[in-house]
Amino acid sequence: MTAVDDTPSLLSQTQPHLRQMLGNLAMGVCIIDAEGYLRLVNPAFCEFFGYAESELLNAHFRKLLPARHQPEAEKHHASGFPEALNQRRAVEVRLQDGSTRSVIIEDTVSHDEEGQPQRIAFLVDITERLDVERRLQEKNRRLEYLATRDHLTGLHNRRFGLEMLGQSLERSRRCGDKISVVMLDLDHFKAINDRYGHAVGDTILKEFSHFVAGVLRTSDTLIRWGGEEFLMILPGIDRFAAQTTVNRVLLQLVDRPLSAAGLRVSFSAGVGEHRQQTLEALLEEIDQALYQAKSAGRGCVAIVPVPTSRPEAQDDPTLSTL
Ligand code: GH3
Ligand code: MG
Ligand code: MG
Repeated sequence: MTAVDDTPSLLSQTQPHLRQMLGNLAMGVCIIDAEGYLRLVNPAFCEFFGYAESELLNAHFRKLLPARHQPEAEKHHASGFPEALNQRRAVEVRLQDGSTRSVIIEDTVSHDEEGQPQRIAFLVDITERLDVERRLQEKNRRLEYLATRDHLTGLHNRRFGLEMLGQSLERSRRCGDKISVVMLDLDHFKAINDRYGHAVGDTILKEFSHFVAGVLRTSDTLIRWGGEEFLMILPGIDRFAAQTTVNRVLLQLVDRPLSAAGLRVSFSAGVGEHRQQTLEALLEEIDQALYQAKSAGRGCVAIVPVPTSRPEAQDDPTLSTL
């Protein structure tokens, strides 16, 4: 079959009832021959692409594709013809005005008068549907972000943090990996608010969160537990290593003036390690260690004294100060 001939529209030659059916069909239909030339186009097809029938008949189908898709589409047509037809796929097409649309093309094979295979393609425009889906996905992503994040600091919020902690403990239980959990509480934060105002307090909370998140490993998690309290999940390390990590953060913080007021803050922390205790028991232990750190004068890190294979003597004293 050749690229150009003088055959008038096949549609006008087709049996009257078929011609009427194709003419009234809201769905775009075309017939493409083995070489990729359009042998028939119905009015809905022409209207969709913005061409007159005469501009499409005997044109190559590449005319209807954005340039970047043409080589692959031609290869696909040539290599898969006609065996790979009877397929349904989403493709991007180019209209006469240069704009692009997303369509579903459904192919089926038929044969022309000479018995040559040809491809009948049905088109359904799914651009709007895709746009709606994309917007919905974007909205869902945004909602998910808002539901799991603390609005002031951008850290994971307590509700989601609890979920993450549960999952982390479950993983450590299953795999037998170590995992440490730390509760931090900024020292004398009320005094900062009282003296410099709530807005400065907010800025310090944001900058502190950003700073701590920046010095942790990517596998660690920092959660805003509430107010000026933060929870850290540190997988893969025991409580002694966790204490060293948190002490290092505390030391770095001393050299880190925060907010425009250039304030230096400290925190107290309680460090615990997951054994087989429940999540609630672990949090309770860490809370007590934090209380111990506060009682010891603040700006220090206390470890939960738990029985392990290590000699108990190493658990006492449990406090380390700067
Ligand atoms: P301590 O060393 O014993 O922890 O003393 P503290 O003053 O930090 O503790 P306290 O519980 O007395 O006060 C916590 C303060 O944290 C009071 C509260 O207004 C402040 N705070 C909690 N959430 C926020 C917040 O989102 N923004 C600001 N600016 N302040 C907050
Ligand atoms: Mg507090
Ligand atoms: Mg505090």
